[in-house]
Amino acid sequence: MGSESDSINRHHIAIALGIGLGIVVVIIICLVLAVLLNRRYSSRPFVSKDKEEKLRKLDAVSPVRTLEEFWSNLKGPITSSEGTDGQFNCAVCLDPVLPSQNIRELKCPHIFHKDCLEKWYLKNHYNCPLCHKPYYVQETQPGTDFVWMV
Ligand SMILES: [Zn+2]
Ligand SMILES: [Zn+2]
Repeated sequence: MGSESDSINRHHIAIALGIGLGIVVVIIICLVLAVLLNRRYSSRPFVSKDKEEKLRKLDAVSPVRTLEEFWSNLKGPITSSEGTDGQFNCAVCLDPVLPSQNIRELKCPHIFHKDCLEKWYLKNHYNCPLCHKPYYVQETQPGTDFVWMV
């Protein structure tokens, strides 16, 4: 009698273990799927409407140009001596700015990568990171000579 109920108990334990393992496997599969889906979403270039709108406004005051275009408007073509002597370094990421790279034209002659300036701007900084000259005045002050104070 005793051995019979023992084997029934063992049988129940085996079923319980099987169900438990099954649940664990399902949870793991769900987690893996969730991670994969998240990765797919985050790999998509996600720009919120707010950011797009802000960048559109920035476009109006600070057009995107290559460094070469900007420089030839300002001082004529980049000569080989200027390219080597006058180092164009982006003060945000400290990397050199190459003549073919995109920058944003500011009210001051400072040069930053387009992406670096956009990151700076999207943190609600409306002044040049170097000289603090405002390049963008918020539209909430229309008609006034509002200047951003440092
Ligand atoms: Zn940079
Ligand atoms: Zn500046």
